[in-house]
Amino acid sequence: MFCPFCSEQETKVIDSRLVAEGHQVRRRRECMVCHERFTTFESAELVMPRVIKRDGSREPFNEDKLRAGLQRALEKRPVSTEKVEQCVLSLKSKLRATGEREVSSELLGNLIMTALRELDKVAYVRFASVYRSFEDIREFGEEIARLGD
Ligand SMILES: [Zn+2]
Repeated sequence: MFCPFCSEQETKVIDSRLVAEGHQVRRRRECMVCHERFTTFESAELVMPRVIKRDGSREPFNEDKLRAGLQRALEKRPVSTEKVEQCVLSLKSKLRATGEREVSSELLGNLIMTALRELDKVAYVRFASVYRSFEDIREFGEEIARLGD
């Protein structure tokens, strides 16, 4: 890839390590021209199941929405960005592990709740209390999915 500082194409990898429990490779690169250093993250792109909403419509799984929803739940909580990223990756691998081409928003909501409970109890309770009024877990999942909008 091009150097983000001077757009030179020649860069060399000076360090490479597995991060996020082996789901990503982090590389330190150095530009051969301006010698600035920068970091890249590489992860496998795998097909995610689509999400079936309560009205029966389907939408593509949206990683950015998921991340934004988690970050919002974890606002001002002592949880590192690294932990949130691990959580996103773990949720994605759980979704893929279903082997389904489509999953319900209810299932997605359940996975998110379980993950939040493990990640930070306050964030989990915060979410649970906000969404307590919803009739069922499916609605809860859809609300979480909408948080990034
Ligand atoms: Zn450069």
